[in-house]
Amino acid sequence: MKTHPLYLNGEFVFTDKNIPVRNPATGQAFANIAVADRARVKKAITDAHAAFAGWRALTAKARGEYLHKIANELERRRDEIAKTITLENGKPLAQSVGEVGMTVDHLRWFAEEGRRGYGRVIPHQTDGKRNLVIKTPIGVVGAIAPWNFPLVLAIRKVAPALAAGCPVVLKPASYTPLSCVAFAEACQTAGLPKGVFQLVAGSAAEIGKEFLENPLVRKITFTGSTEVGKQLIAGAAAQIKPLSLELGGLNPVLVFDDAELDKAVDGTMLAKFRNTGQSCIAANRVYVQRGIYDKFLKLFVEKTKAMKVGDGFEPDVQIGAMIDENAVNNAAKHVEDAVKRGAKLLCGGKRVDRPGYFFEATVLADVPKDALCMNEETFAPVTAVAPFDTEAEGIELANGSPYGLSAYAFTRDLSRTFRLMEQIEAGMIGINDGLPTTTNAPFGGVKQSGWGRELGSEGLDSFLETKHISICL
Ligand code: NAP
Repeated sequence: MKTHPLYLNGEFVFTDKNIPVRNPATGQAFANIAVADRARVKKAITDAHAAFAGWRALTAKARGEYLHKIANELERRRDEIAKTITLENGKPLAQSVGEVGMTVDHLRWFAEEGRRGYGRVIPHQTDGKRNLVIKTPIGVVGAIAPWNFPLVLAIRKVAPALAAGCPVVLKPASYTPLSCVAFAEACQTAGLPKGVFQLVAGSAAEIGKEFLENPLVRKITFTGSTEVGKQLIAGAAAQIKPLSLELGGLNPVLVFDDAELDKAVDGTMLAKFRNTGQSCIAANRVYVQRGIYDKFLKLFVEKTKAMKVGDGFEPDVQIGAMIDENAVNNAAKHVEDAVKRGAKLLCGGKRVDRPGYFFEATVLADVPKDALCMNEETFAPVTAVAPFDTEAEGIELANGSPYGLSAYAFTRDLSRTFRLMEQIEAGMIGINDGLPTTTNAPFGGVKQSGWGRELGSEGLDSFLETKHISICL
């Protein structure tokens, strides 16, 4: 079994401790990753800090050229890296290919956006003074990534930070570190100066603590659960350390009577089942207006039953393996609880009888408000559907959770679209669109779904300090 190294100060490093990486489609380990203890993480941060002066001194154009070279390398190795993502995460191969493609797009977009870290000159209001605003890189960044999109969610942090002039120490999820090792290889091939990008793996608690307590780390950017996000907020208090947090969601879908039925069904399926339901922006609660409820359910169930569940390497699979045993058990718990509270199980509902961690594509109808799946992130291919009557009720239902990551609405009414855009409490809203993510627009949540934004010009700004310079002439 191959052991993969860490990437520290320009070198691939093996240590005396490894952890196994499993294939969720079989439950079997297929590789190892070296583990960094806290001393190595500290050294990585020191080396990143040493690299900071040289990296920030480059022009944004020169930094962008490195990002383009890394992107070229990922593009060249696209199919091989996609296979690694499917092996470590379980998602269908076509979706892994898409993930590599989006990663390349992030790198190329930020390679150019880095050139637009504009300041401004403000018209002065005191004679003899001039006021300027400049943007400077914040410093060493500690980045922590989740397992559900192991490559693209890591590079969504790394690309803008590097473009802004900040060195990055990245900790991928322990389940899925290998696609990030491939990224480190691409950095080395691109000739990225040593220390500018480093990869550590190991105990999340220890690495997180070092990121929080080491004063050389000037920013932590985290994607993962709201629970860990809250721990980071508490830990950041001692140094008032800036945090960007992309956390969990309980994302609602509103399907109105006037929606185009096919578009609403296909859009909701994309929002629900992409990434085997394990996406932070996955539809968790689907509310359908009463006039279209039965028609929507009929078509939705028909299309759900037609989806193929299986190993992500099998052709035409749309629902891959879930990440682990807990994920399967949680899906089963949500289904059982909903049915116990009166929901109707229209299809699926149980574990697939094969090795690995598979769950059937599931549809539950008439799901009551107090069901677990209406109140907790399901993170599984389980769709919870319930009816509503008026637009006001729909908006109230959509906003009735402590989260606010994404939301979706299907309607042909333009005036309603504006009311929804303005009133729904979510950082991203798809109108007749089941996949609102794009590199050039901000990505992130409100309420307990997080702080700050990735992607778009906001994504670059997260790694820049804003300074006011007042000059007496
Ligand atoms: P998680 O358990 O919070 O883990 C995320 C990352 O944090 C992993 O690298 C993990 O390391 C690390 N971590 C765990 N405990 C830590 C600690 N005490 N200090 C510092 N780091 C720590 O989340 P997950 O289960 O991987 O991901 C699923 C969650 O992420 C869902 O809630 C989903 O909605 C959310 N998510 C949000 C977004 C978004 O953009 N808003 C995107 C994707 C996912 P180990 O792997 O070593 O435990």
